[in-house]
Amino acid sequence: MKHSVIFNIILFISFSHSLIAGDTLTIVDKRVNFGYAVSQNRKADAVIVHSTFNNSGGDFYDIDLVLKQFSTYKVSAHYVIGRDGIVYRVVDEQNVSYHAGKSSLPDGRTDVNSCSIGIEIMTSYKESPTEKQVIALIALINSIKKRHTINYVLRHSDIAPVRKTDPWNMDWKAFQQKLAESK
Ligand SMILES: [Zn+2]
Repeated sequence: MKHSVIFNIILFISFSHSLIAGDTLTIVDKRVNFGYAVSQNRKADAVIVHSTFNNSGGDFYDIDLVLKQFSTYKVSAHYVIGRDGIVYRVVDEQNVSYHAGKSSLPDGRTDVNSCSIGIEIMTSYKESPTEKQVIALIALINSIKKRHTINYVLRHSDIAPVRKTDPWNMDWKAFQQKLAESK
């Protein structure tokens, strides 16, 4: 017990620091074995932002329950961001995660999964992303931009407007401004 308290304090301090510094991320590995195709040397130039929650009973925001739900539908995302801003790595960036479904980019490309990185923010239909999630999302996207030439940062609803409404309850304009200012 004492050990876990100390561990949590250390985690909290390092996490707080990462939020203040804005240059590091708390990434926890939660890799899955479904919902993606193995790939090498693919070029990802789009980041697609989604939202998700566990809609199958129990805690809305339990990462394991969210991933269990993904497994049912054989979908995934590269990253899932918890309410506390912790980033779960679910699929490696070089692999093709099945997150976008039938959708199209502004330049007309329709195989969006093959050229994008998918990020899920845990929110429900009624709740907005937390401040910590927005900060983590910005840090994560800036970190992705160091590894890939990103031309688009879009919402799922931007690329599949008829089918999708996520990310829910998110002030997208404010987010875009914060992202631009963070560079
Ligand atoms: Zn989505």
